[in-house]
Amino acid sequence: MKSLCDKLQIIGADISNAVDAYQRKENSVQLLAVSKHHPVNAIREAYACGQRAFGENYTQEMLKKAEALKELAIEWHFIGPLQSNKTRPIATIATWVHTVDRMKIAKRLSKQRPAHLPPLSICLQVNISEESSKSGVFPQELSTLAQEVTQLPNIKLRGLMAIPKAETDFNKQREIFAKLRCLQENLIKQGMTELDTLSMGMSADMSAAIAEGATIVRIGTAIFGIREN
Ligand SMILES: *Cc1c(COP(=O)(O)O)cnc(C)c1O
Repeated sequence: MKSLCDKLQIIGADISNAVDAYQRKENSVQLLAVSKHHPVNAIREAYACGQRAFGENYTQEMLKKAEALKELAIEWHFIGPLQSNKTRPIATIATWVHTVDRMKIAKRLSKQRPAHLPPLSICLQVNISEESSKSGVFPQELSTLAQEVTQLPNIKLRGLMAIPKAETDFNKQREIFAKLRCLQENLIKQGMTELDTLSMGMSADMSAAIAEGATIVRIGTAIFGIREN
């Protein structure tokens, strides 16, 4: 059986290969290890292999893990649905939040980010496949939200994030990621020149995301195996 270090190495190589194949800049794609529903010991093991950035979807779960692992220099990324009454611990523990999709949440994170910490890096989640059941701001409302969010102190808008509708065809995967990239390019043209992050691509569509400009890929299953639950 492959060890966790082997799997991390294989994914690192997959990322490098895609970076080469699509003429992306070297080291321009960061691996976020999505550890939701996996135990603290799995995170410890991945950390010992050199992984530092971990993604969690649930506030309580992230809190518990951050407490248990507080001696480690982990960079926590919150990538789950945000409820406005649970933003405070996230603003305190996380370095990144990928799933901001409304002004109310952005304001709370801004207000609750402790003054001694650097600004919280955030991405706006876009409902890129325009599914009524999914969270995320609709593409036509993105620009207004982005303009407002960039005015807030203590948080820094870094870019966009999306979870497209599951799609197995590589070219169709690319098409939808290209749409997110275009939205980002439009914001940059509107003057948001500091945007540098596209959080897109999971275990099943990582290469397509890298082909279209992903800078953070969020990988769970390919590292930690199938989630129970
Ligand atoms: C669970 C999750 C992932 C990881 O998905 P895998 O298919 O296990 O790689 C990535 N992003 C988000 C937002 C998730 O919730």
